[in-house]
Amino acid sequence: SLEQGPEGPDTPIQVVLRVRPMSAAELRRGEQSVLHCTGAKTLQVSPPGGGPEVAFRFGAVLDGARTQEDVFRACGVRRLGELALRGFSCTVFTFGQTGSGKTYTLTGPPPQEEGVPIPPSLAGIMQRTFAWLLDHVQHLGAPVTLRASYLEIYNEQVRDLLSPGSPRPLPVRWNKTRGFYVEQLRVVEFGSLGTLMELLQMGLSRRRSSAHTLNQASSRSHALLTLYVGRQTQVPPVDPGEPPTGGKLCFVDLAGSEKVAATGSRGELMLEANSINRSLLALGHCISLLLDPRRKQSHIPFRDSKLTKLLADSLGGHGVTLMVACVSPSAQCLPETLSTLRYASRAQ
Ligand code: ADP
Ligand code: MG
Repeated sequence: SLEQGPEGPDTPIQVVLRVRPMSAAELRRGEQSVLHCTGAKTLQVSPPGGGPEVAFRFGAVLDGARTQEDVFRACGVRRLGELALRGFSCTVFTFGQTGSGKTYTLTGPPPQEEGVPIPPSLAGIMQRTFAWLLDHVQHLGAPVTLRASYLEIYNEQVRDLLSPGSPRPLPVRWNKTRGFYVEQLRVVEFGSLGTLMELLQMGLSRRRSSAHTLNQASSRSHALLTLYVGRQTQVPPVDPGEPPTGGKLCFVDLAGSEKVAATGSRGELMLEANSINRSLLALGHCISLLLDPRRKQSHIPFRDSKLTKLLADSLGGHGVTLMVACVSPSAQCLPETLSTLRYASRAQ
């Protein structure tokens, strides 16, 4: 378990692997499972037809039998919440192909009917963290301001999921005190778990409705819900549009990684040419530079995409990042699964 981690600035990125159960459709088609969790941190891939087996090692490996609660615990998100309260920028992101369980891991299954809440046992990392945070803050003694924003990046355009009215792209800017930020993003103060859950539902339903109109936009967009947790030492910021200085806890449901994988298999050079998902490539690039000890002092190209700009403070400097790589166990998904496993391996 990563409950004790993160160890500090030397391990800026932790990687947890989640293998979802075989879906009803995969079982109906008689597909084989090719992934085997061989230990708490190890995975073995056995290609069908007796190809060479490959082993991977991650901070934690969770198989299809593990519950949402197990995943929440193994991810050590409480620790990230504590770090955020101490002023760190923390990020949890899910990575994997469409259908691998990214959204399920963060927010649970979609509601059966609009307005009917999902059972608490199926709540994802986000709802569990929210409940923990609200409870924890109550027992702190010192006042803490809590605010949230929720946005989506689609085709390199930022769209506010909390602002009413028709969405229009918002610019990402940079200044010395705030770093990168989204101009005119709605940042909502919340005092209760109920209010925060409503904000989450509002954003989720907006994402879902855009998935119908924008042709699978939700699998091609990144959704970022950010909690700003400021220990209130002085008066709140004068400008209510200005997020309070303090820590951040950001949850990112990344776009499906399949386009990246498809280009990757055709060689490194193709990566340059294909800009279908520039953000995921830029993220992988920034992470690999951050991890390379020789390059540590060098320039990290956060400016290459909106996603990396908005995650810059978590990835570099004053932050901690947790990656939950999600995969299907089915033999049919093996090429995409291997790409995800390699991307995730390189990130640690
Ligand atoms: P993604 O967001 O990566 O595209 P989803 O989270 O939407 O994938 O998952 C695809 C489908 O599989 C959904 O119907 C989801 O409810 C289901 N699913 C994903 N992970 C699990 C799991 N661990 N247990 C049960 N069902 C799951
Ligand atoms: Mg999804």
